[in-house]
Amino acid sequence: MGRLLKGGLALGGAVLGVAALRRALNPAPRYAPWEKPRYEEFEKRILIVGGGFGGYTAAQKLCERVRRREDVGVLVIARDNFFTFWPMVPGIVSSDIDARNVAQPLRRALINSGASFRRATLEGIDRENKRIVTDGGLDFPYDQLIISLGAQPNFFGIPGVEKHAMSMRGVRDAERIRNRVIERFEEVSLIRGEVPDSKLTFVVIGAGATGVEIASEIHTLVHDHLAPDYPNIDPNRVRVFLVEGLPQILPELDPALQRAARSRLHNDNIHVMVNTLAEEVTEDCVMLKGGENISSENIIWTAGASPNTAIHDLGLPVDKRNGVTVDEYLRVEGADDIWAIGDCAAIPDVREAEGGKFIPPNAQAAAQEGYVVADNVIAVLDGSGDIRRFEYKPIGQLVELGSDFAVNEVMGVKFSGWVAAMFWRGTYLVRLNSPQSRARIAADWILGAFLRPAVTQIRGSSEE
Ligand SMILES: Cc1cc2nc3c(=O)[nH]c(=O)nc-3n(C[C@H](O)[C@H](O)[C@H](O)COP(=O)(O)OP(=O)(O)OC[C@H]3O[C@@H](n4cnc5c(N)ncnc54)[C@H](O)[C@@H]3O)c2cc1C
Repeated sequence: MGRLLKGGLALGGAVLGVAALRRALNPAPRYAPWEKPRYEEFEKRILIVGGGFGGYTAAQKLCERVRRREDVGVLVIARDNFFTFWPMVPGIVSSDIDARNVAQPLRRALINSGASFRRATLEGIDRENKRIVTDGGLDFPYDQLIISLGAQPNFFGIPGVEKHAMSMRGVRDAERIRNRVIERFEEVSLIRGEVPDSKLTFVVIGAGATGVEIASEIHTLVHDHLAPDYPNIDPNRVRVFLVEGLPQILPELDPALQRAARSRLHNDNIHVMVNTLAEEVTEDCVMLKGGENISSENIIWTAGASPNTAIHDLGLPVDKRNGVTVDEYLRVEGADDIWAIGDCAAIPDVREAEGGKFIPPNAQAAAQEGYVVADNVIAVLDGSGDIRRFEYKPIGQLVELGSDFAVNEVMGVKFSGWVAAMFWRGTYLVRLNSPQSRARIAADWILGAFLRPAVTQIRGSSEE
């Protein structure tokens, strides 16, 4: 009898545990569907355009601040209905990370927090009537508007880059690069005679964090994942070049970490060319300043980004980089109801040591700006006037070179190697906002320690 009771209690405990876990992983939305007022019906309306690091963080913080209020509505409008977790995008190239887990559902996270979401593309702002205009001729009202439209590649007018190089501005681009590598392996495995060098040469232009990570991911894809499936192709015939105009790679990192990264790239046989400028790109060649050429049909551009050009048509003030100019409170110059954050904004750095500079475009800055803009918008809506300056607090930088090596600088502490790679993984895993993505990526990484990922090219899913 006693054993039966114990068994019953254990079973009951397990059922309750599972129910609690399910509830924690699937929190109930703030509003039941039939209770939620329409965004337009709220007394005070905050409209956020862009659902990336800046916009999403601002929305979450705003929802937290107005959780117990019935007068404030928050609407997010974005071109995509997913949130791109940028630090993991390069991992899609080697197939270490599944694209579906990097593009996380935006709608669900926002609805659960109490915001509304519409997928639409911003086309204009009617400042007089306090409305934005989107594709399809729709318009949405606002009392306070936050703009966080991100960035896009900047080709600096170098001939042929836009036409012939692959850029790296999203999940689809990462899939395209992976498909290109697989495509070349398929093509070369059919060639009976001499294989042109250009087929198996990959040139990454730009050795900032994204360029270094992409070059390493191509190496991993070729040597760890593809080579065993293509026994007639010698993986050592594949050449990967990393071309950088500055005198060093990863310019934002400490010199000791730059050296660690370079020696890792060297060991992986990735040819690093610093002080080297690309002058022109053709279908099968990169022409370098000084006359040297690299014969390649696979060129990837990561060397520059600039604010999203969509802001050109909004009639807002911009600086010479075309970022929306804002004051130190993140408010658009000359406006009292429009704010801009993230990569599309030119935000003055108020730290003394950085006098006269602008905040660098990165995810941690965009997220920090999201928190501050949310507080400032609420202060303005409520008329408290208690707004605060944005002061950037850089936490550090993490760069992964393959699954077992990273170079990290965190609050002044510099470290590299396997421990740094584990730190990279742990840090970004907990920052993913979807519990499903977190669990799936963790499972993939554990499985990846024992099994090679299945790497296939689904033709038609991208341009390759
Ligand atoms: C490959 C890659 C890797 C990166 N890795 C890191 C990293 O490891 N660490 C780091 O700190 N930073 C990293 N960054 C930089 C970082 O991603 C950006 O600085 C950050 O995402 C900026 O946030 P944001 O909100 O301004 O823009 P984003 O996060 O890009 O969001 C832009 C939003 O605007 C929407 N949008 C765009 N145009 C329109 C329109 N016309 N109408 C409506 N919506 C629109 C998009 O759908 C999206 O929701 C990386 C960038 C890239 C490209």
